[in-house]
Amino acid sequence: MASSTKDQFIDEALSKRRKEHRFRNLTPFEPVGKAKITDGNRELVNFSSNDYLGLSKHHKVIARSKKYAEKYGAGATASRLISGTYSIHDELEQNLSDTFGWESALVFNSGFQANSTIISTLADRHSLILADNLSHNSLLQGSLASRATFRRFAHNSVDDLEAHLQKASGEDFSRIFVITESLFSMDGDRSDIEAIAKLTDTYNAWLFVDDAHAVGVWGEKGLGLTAGIEGIDMVLGTCGKAFGGFGAFLLCSSKMKNYLINFCPGFIYTTALPPAVIGAIQASLDLIPGMEPERERLREHIKIMQEGISEAGFEIGDSESQIIPIIVGEEVETLQLADYLEQQGFLATAIRPPTVPKGSARIRITLSSQHTKTEITEFITALNDWNEY
Ligand SMILES: *Cc1c(COP(=O)(O)O)cnc(C)c1O
Repeated sequence: MASSTKDQFIDEALSKRRKEHRFRNLTPFEPVGKAKITDGNRELVNFSSNDYLGLSKHHKVIARSKKYAEKYGAGATASRLISGTYSIHDELEQNLSDTFGWESALVFNSGFQANSTIISTLADRHSLILADNLSHNSLLQGSLASRATFRRFAHNSVDDLEAHLQKASGEDFSRIFVITESLFSMDGDRSDIEAIAKLTDTYNAWLFVDDAHAVGVWGEKGLGLTAGIEGIDMVLGTCGKAFGGFGAFLLCSSKMKNYLINFCPGFIYTTALPPAVIGAIQASLDLIPGMEPERERLREHIKIMQEGISEAGFEIGDSESQIIPIIVGEEVETLQLADYLEQQGFLATAIRPPTVPKGSARIRITLSSQHTKTEITEFITALNDWNEY
């Protein structure tokens, strides 16, 4: 093949994207103050960050991160099984399992990496994976890579899950995995983990819960929406959201931890997280249980925002969290609203199909305890003014 046509598929795919007005590109920002960012020209109140408690800028988190970098170096210099497990990695896993009340914890380099590699390690081509229809892409990647039979159950429908489990019990699968999120990333709604855990127990299926948006924010002491619920086999938490850092952890049994250390490629064949990151996670973990005042403030922000959006005449779907969709419907109008909000000084990103179902294009906002009440009420005023704009 001539080299001039080698990249034709790239040109075609990109121009298709542009034609559909779905071309993605990166905008560099710099953080400013507590919950703002700047693109170099102007400051915007950031309603599109997952730093729910402001831990990314907490002085204790930054201090511990610096301290670990100075003491242990910039990198861990090897994978965990070779020589990359320092005492700080070990301590962190011990503290995670103690704090969250599980037998064991295993740290991964990101939530995406964890989900995509853990599921493909546990399921094989004779297994069945039943995943909520709105599951995160990383869970989908893990499921596909496993080559297991993959079926989706209707979003948040315990009845549909039961129908799938019933059907599967008459089939010949080596094992069955049920996968869901506790708090869904695009709609901010929650699943009934307790009911799902009972069901998976009845059918002797495994239950894997992705608690990415809930750890730090919800549940007693911010320990997530799986805290205290019996019958869950594995919980995935990320440190890139409320923890304000990077990395992820799996809460599981000691047996499972040993299994993954021995068989999970995404754990085995990658460099251990750097000391600075371990320091940040450790400091956030120490802080989170005591951050009830921040969580209370965040809950107040959620209430003001939910009411304000509804009064401005928009639907927020089933959101019950810091993630609130402002459902507009049409794609063009959603993009216009996002532009308008930016002109008014707010970063609130438009989310469109295929990320969300057709006809449900939306502005997705995420709230932090670090926003001020004024920032939130000004956002609501801008939203009201849009109706006359
Ligand atoms: C963000 C997210 C992840 C990925 O976590 P990272 O640590 O950012 O890679 C996984 N699952 C869900 C549901 C998420 O929202």
